[in-house]
Amino acid sequence: MTAAIERVDCIVIGAGVVGLAVARALALQGREVMVLEAQDAIGTGTSSRNSEVIHAGIYYPAGSLKAQLCVRGRGLLYAYCEARGVPHQRCGKLIVATTESQRAELQAIERKARANGVDDLQWLERYAARALEPALECVAALLSPSTGIVDSHALMLALQGDLEHAGGMVVLNAPVARARCTQDALVLETADGTLLQTRIMVNAAGLWAPGLARAFEGLDARHVPEARYAKGNYFTLTGRAPFRRLIYPVPEAAGLGVHLTLDLGGQAKFGPDVQWVEGPDDLVVDPRRGDAFYAEVRRYWPALADGALAPGYAGIRPKIHGPGEPAADFVLQGPGVHGIPGLVNLFGIESPGLTSALALGERVAALCAKD
Ligand SMILES: Cc1cc2nc3c(=O)[nH]c(=O)nc-3n(C[C@H](O)[C@H](O)[C@H](O)COP(=O)(O)OP(=O)(O)OC[C@H]3O[C@@H](n4cnc5c(N)ncnc54)[C@H](O)[C@@H]3O)c2cc1C
Repeated sequence: MTAAIERVDCIVIGAGVVGLAVARALALQGREVMVLEAQDAIGTGTSSRNSEVIHAGIYYPAGSLKAQLCVRGRGLLYAYCEARGVPHQRCGKLIVATTESQRAELQAIERKARANGVDDLQWLERYAARALEPALECVAALLSPSTGIVDSHALMLALQGDLEHAGGMVVLNAPVARARCTQDALVLETADGTLLQTRIMVNAAGLWAPGLARAFEGLDARHVPEARYAKGNYFTLTGRAPFRRLIYPVPEAAGLGVHLTLDLGGQAKFGPDVQWVEGPDDLVVDPRRGDAFYAEVRRYWPALADGALAPGYAGIRPKIHGPGEPAADFVLQGPGVHGIPGLVNLFGIESPGLTSALALGERVAALCAKD
């Protein structure tokens, strides 16, 4: 690294919803902020390949970062969407038990939600659930009125707007290749050889964050988790949506089960399933996976017609645990962990990362306030 070095106060790597929310929060502290994004547009990664659900904060272990940041982020997100005119809808969701044996699991979910501060769930017996959603088949359900949907791209544009209004900027086509981290300075190098020196560097590269952190000279490799990739495929429903609320089965091992979500145009889709893959780039939906969707969906919507599902899109969960291992929490890794002043790594920001984005921004900005 011998070329001239430009100095920037804070650099955020990655212009997904989390990187943008972090950058906005840092800029609102009055700092100079630059976001470096590898692609030619913001939000082309996981942030545009998800269910766009504003989660209530129901499922996560009490006290976990996922639980805390989801509940906090949900409140911030609704308020932000209202203030900034970001399209969203507090449509509510039903979590459904489709067999008597799942009642106990539904009760456990209700308890977990309450421990997380989600106290608006309503228990519905079959008749009450069907009064809300006549096409639904279930033995009981939990209604979550504070679950909703959001236009994730409009959200990212609003965050970018706030960042720029506060004097920050997003630089596209600027993949970070490596960095040198010492006690005195952080020096990044982009793929074209540009050198940038900064005081604060936030690695918000999503699926690529662990791989990138391995290219940070001076960061001890034991602080970098192994990246794992759990693809989620979606199938869209041709024809009218049968429900007005989101419908979720009782969750399965690595995801929330094949659920029905709606977009703001009222189009219904089912997914995501769980398919462990080798890397972050395998985004093609194999139409044959649709066969398994019919049986799963018919448990709660028996009227699903043959041939009604078409391959949609896929997203990849940035996991830091493998199949069969206990689910990992979000990792926000600051100097207190790795000892490098000004460096924050974000690892494993899977669902509910979209819901939590503003709270993650707040938390990272607070971590950096000391630097
Ligand atoms: C199938 C699926 C469904 C989901 N559903 C929901 C949901 O309904 N609700 C919810 O709250 N959450 C959901 N999530 C989670 C949510 O989508 C993510 O937590 C969130 O989008 C993560 O945002 P991010 O900014 O961390 O990552 P990303 O959006 O992946 O952004 C990372 C950015 O970094 C850039 N980048 C990578 N490497 C470099 C580099 N070297 N230099 C510069 N830039 C780089 C990438 O190009 C990318 O733009 C879902 C996730 C998946 C996979």
